[in-house]
Amino acid sequence: MSTPSLACSQALAVFEKQHPEYLEDLCKLVRIPSVSFDGFPPEEVERSAQATADLLTARGFENVQILKLPGVHPYVYGDYLHAPGKPTVLLYAHHDVQPAGDADAWATLPFEPTMRNGRLFGRGTADDKAGIVVHSSALHSYLSAGQKPPVNLKVLIEGEEEIGSGNLGDFIEKHLDLLKADVMVLTDTNNFDVGVPSITTSLRGLVTVEVEVTSLRQSVHSGMWGGPLPDAGLALTKILASLVDENGRIAIPGIYDKVRPLSDVERQSMNCLPYTMEQFRNQAGLLECVPTLPACGENPWAMIWREPSLSINAVEVSNRRDARNIINGTAWACVGIRLVPDMDADEVAAALTAHLQASAPYGVQVKVTTRGAKGPWFTSPEHPAFGAALRALEAGYGRAPVLIGCGGSIGFVGPLSEKLGGVPALLVGVEDPFTNAHSENESMCVADFYSCIRGQINLFDELARLP
Ligand SMILES: [Zn+2]
Repeated sequence: MSTPSLACSQALAVFEKQHPEYLEDLCKLVRIPSVSFDGFPPEEVERSAQATADLLTARGFENVQILKLPGVHPYVYGDYLHAPGKPTVLLYAHHDVQPAGDADAWATLPFEPTMRNGRLFGRGTADDKAGIVVHSSALHSYLSAGQKPPVNLKVLIEGEEEIGSGNLGDFIEKHLDLLKADVMVLTDTNNFDVGVPSITTSLRGLVTVEVEVTSLRQSVHSGMWGGPLPDAGLALTKILASLVDENGRIAIPGIYDKVRPLSDVERQSMNCLPYTMEQFRNQAGLLECVPTLPACGENPWAMIWREPSLSINAVEVSNRRDARNIINGTAWACVGIRLVPDMDADEVAAALTAHLQASAPYGVQVKVTTRGAKGPWFTSPEHPAFGAALRALEAGYGRAPVLIGCGGSIGFVGPLSEKLGGVPALLVGVEDPFTNAHSENESMCVADFYSCIRGQINLFDELARLP
């Protein structure tokens, strides 16, 4: 760990006295039900954009503006550019939230932030209104200590993250000059566990196809016709079974060829993850009598983050309610493959399609349609910005951080890093395994919220020292 600059130490000292103010900043934002989904009042998202703009201004950001694309939930921008010759950092968070879900399942009102056992409950507490307040509080701590942050800051708060960030690419293109930066800090991901600071360095992509097998012009009586005729359901089953081997590995030729191996830094970090197999099985809800697949090596998390996986999302051959004694003429399934760095989504879609067609038994007809093909994302933790972030988080949380991946996809990461020319992206956040993001009773560990702000104050200092 490096010794913090005078400005940084003073900002940290002031921060410790301002916890209640910053927590109240968060509560104010949480009270606005800024659900971005269709069918929810868009005025609330407008209101949260305004509240976000007001907060950024109150906490010292300059040039704060609400930016809009036609028909798109508003973005909020602000900056503080007073460190000539130093790097520019783009801070990201989002002000929209998921719907509250089942009102009866909430122990307290979803849009009334409530403290319980060191956690703040409410929709958007962790995902991602905390991200906004981490940014505003880190800047404000410097300013109220009579200091300036040692880097240039830009902040972008999105309004449509929870519905997939569909317009973010266009938005960045339109405002490219405004958003240009040397490094990005995206405060919207999770920590591996409570109190364990984590940086997410990879996301999986996803290829989804529909496969339809047809053997007859129409389904027929299984007594009158059973024997000589190929059954579409059975044919589909054989095709699907050919997709994996007995160990659970994907059996499509060449599918693992482009998988990027773990670097030494990553392997080391993943070997230090604090978990037990029992915890893992519990969190996943695996039945006691069922082992993990033989393909799962020593570390199930490394497999989830950095190996492709295949699942059958849905199968339709007649249906439960209508299961008559027939030979079905048609059967359908939806198959998904999660992609990891450096797999190519179009290549995987083509290989999956070819395999499904080549595995057809009995000469049945096989029609494959690609539903979606989105590539994975990866950022190299060897970039010096990661060293800076690791040191800053260690100082903020008082414990060494871990590098993690994310098995799913996050819409904003691709467009942001691509359009901004592949600058390093630091994905951090305050969610943890108990957060219940997107579900009922979402909550945030308040101690980690403060640690995250402390980390961010240190991060500005660390990034200022980068060449
Ligand atoms: Zn989020």
